[in-house]
Amino acid sequence: DAAPETRSFEADVAKLLHLMVHSVYSDKDVFLRELVSNAADACEKLRYEALSDARLGSGEPPRITIMLDPDARQISIEDNGIGMSEADMVDALGTIARSGTKAFMDRIAASQEAEGAQLIGQFGVGFYSAFMVADRVVVLSRRAGTETAARWASDGLGTYSVEQIDPVDAPAHGTRVLLHLKESASAYTERYNAERIIKAQSGHVPVPIVLREKPDAEGEQIADGAALWTKPRSEISKEDYTDFYRGVAGQFDEPALTLHYRAEGLHEYSVLAFVPGMKPFDLFDPDRHGRMKLYVRRVFITDEAQILPRYLRFVRGLVDSGDLPLNVSREMIQESPVLAAIQKGVANRVLSELDKLSQSDPDGYLGFWQNFGAVLKEGLYEDYGRRETLLGLARFRTTTSGTEWRSLKDYAASLKDNQTAIYYATGSDFDRLASSPQLEGFRARGLEVLLLTDQVDSFWVTGGLDYEGKPFKSVTQGLADLDLIAPSESETPAEPPSSEVGDFLAFAKDLLKDEVSDVRASQRLTQSAACLVAPEHGMDRQLEKLLAASGQ
Ligand code: ADP
Ligand code: MG
Repeated sequence: DAAPETRSFEADVAKLLHLMVHSVYSDKDVFLRELVSNAADACEKLRYEALSDARLGSGEPPRITIMLDPDARQISIEDNGIGMSEADMVDALGTIARSGTKAFMDRIAASQEAEGAQLIGQFGVGFYSAFMVADRVVVLSRRAGTETAARWASDGLGTYSVEQIDPVDAPAHGTRVLLHLKESASAYTERYNAERIIKAQSGHVPVPIVLREKPDAEGEQIADGAALWTKPRSEISKEDYTDFYRGVAGQFDEPALTLHYRAEGLHEYSVLAFVPGMKPFDLFDPDRHGRMKLYVRRVFITDEAQILPRYLRFVRGLVDSGDLPLNVSREMIQESPVLAAIQKGVANRVLSELDKLSQSDPDGYLGFWQNFGAVLKEGLYEDYGRRETLLGLARFRTTTSGTEWRSLKDYAASLKDNQTAIYYATGSDFDRLASSPQLEGFRARGLEVLLLTDQVDSFWVTGGLDYEGKPFKSVTQGLADLDLIAPSESETPAEPPSSEVGDFLAFAKDLLKDEVSDVRASQRLTQSAACLVAPEHGMDRQLEKLLAASGQ
């Protein structure tokens, strides 16, 4: 055999590993969840690929075996899943492929050490979390359907080795991850500890888990691999749901909303989905991928089916269809009318559950809105058919709301006589926006103005939407029709003589002729001397700034 090849980790991995190795994060148990979830993923991948290629796999049922070796201070996690070739290992265990992990790295780079440690706990960091507890990790693997096996090893200090090995030393197909535990982590080799952690964190992975407390001990099944979503709701506890959520979502918080139901009728499918309690790190990745998995009769098919529209990408979970054929290819699925029906049904259900939440638990709903409102608002221009539902779900801070948030229904209920539009102002900083001179004329008249500070706001407001027949109108655009509504007495500015105003306008127009297209006397100001406005049909000022910033 050739000597193993030594390679350096990609720079980002080295950084991440440094963080793991020196981690002060106290809840190190999460490494086990990550390795078990990889093992389960590998079993599901094999189950799927074997549907179209019967030569793959040995036909034995999928299984994850966790073996403890207290004397050697080792723990190994073995699966009989798809396995990895040597090249797969270089790709998967030497780089950071996950965009979410990249986002995590950016957050780490911008944070203090102690906060960084907390971030590990909020966010699964995958395979590399093994180095929180191990000073050496060895991976033996054999890709299903191949005759060669490979070995990967590293102490997490900058390099790793890979080599081909004799297949008899590896699992028949699948992967064994062997951890040489640090002295401080020796408790993981105690049966009681390991069993408690696995049951609590991974009790609902869809693959049975067997525990062996010593190399020569019999295995004992400690989790049955039953699909939680097929059980009746009455048999599932809140803790069961939370564990499952954490596994499927890669989140470490409590879900804000749990949806578990079975659709019957023309199409039959089960849905188990969650709205996270905290923002996932990949929420604003450019690809805006959803994270809903598609199963067909309990077989995992793909997480690329785009079951939900992109503006619902914060929803995590799965749909299990009873109608799709098992051997449907991932490409065919996209064309399937069954999928189209599922997409429509699940999106409607998510939105109606959010609406229910907004009524049954307004505070809880506001928490949701503050996390995901900016994402949901993308739907206002991407999903015209559901715009009314989405406008109904939207909450706003306004010039009259104080610290509260207002719905458009609230807004509509306090319209002034003669008010023809819903007024809004956009900006990136809330306090600056709230004190903008643009708002003075509106304040003087008691007219409520929506204060919009999310990037997405500049886009949806230009989409020609209306709410109950009232168009959205920017306070910076043209002459807001303030003439029809009288300001309250105390705010009325003293009228200067009109001849002086005329002289001043002429002077200002001449002075600024290269900068602005017009200078006008206006009703919109009460305290400030002047402000900039956009033409009636021109671009909103905030959108103009955004486009300029992006070089357009
Ligand atoms: P993720 O699971 O989100 O992709 P991880 O860091 O947990 O990220 O794992 C990285 C990659 O390593 C996986 O995507 C997979 O390709 C590979 N991998 C890890 N563990 C296994 C395993 N037990 N069997 C097969 N492949 C694995
Ligand atoms: Mg993983």
